[in-house]
Amino acid sequence: MSLPEEFLKTQKEKLESEKERLMSEISKLKKYPDYGDRDEDNTQEIVDYEKNLSVEDSLKQSLDEVNIALKSIETGDYGQCRKCSVEIDRELLEVMPSIDLCSKCQKK
Ligand SMILES: [Zn+2]
Repeated sequence: MSLPEEFLKTQKEKLESEKERLMSEISKLKKYPDYGDRDEDNTQEIVDYEKNLSVEDSLKQSLDEVNIALKSIETGDYGQCRKCSVEIDRELLEVMPSIDLCSKCQKK
């Protein structure tokens, strides 16, 4: 399979800006919240910190997917389903550049 150079270039740009966005989101989350020294402030800090941790997890997962997609552009495997190796619809790739499953495998 071969995707046009121009298409890959656009996808790469999308992935790179997505990567930047995710990394800045993650770095924002890393800061431990500090609302004050009252008991209710401290409780809220812990609640928000734990919330941040789960958000951070999902952001990191998205970042992993973006990195994998970027790598696959370099190796020439971009746009292939990781399960059945079929070509992923280009329309789907345009909307979700880091997707690595075809529409059939996603439904499973
Ligand atoms: Zn598939």
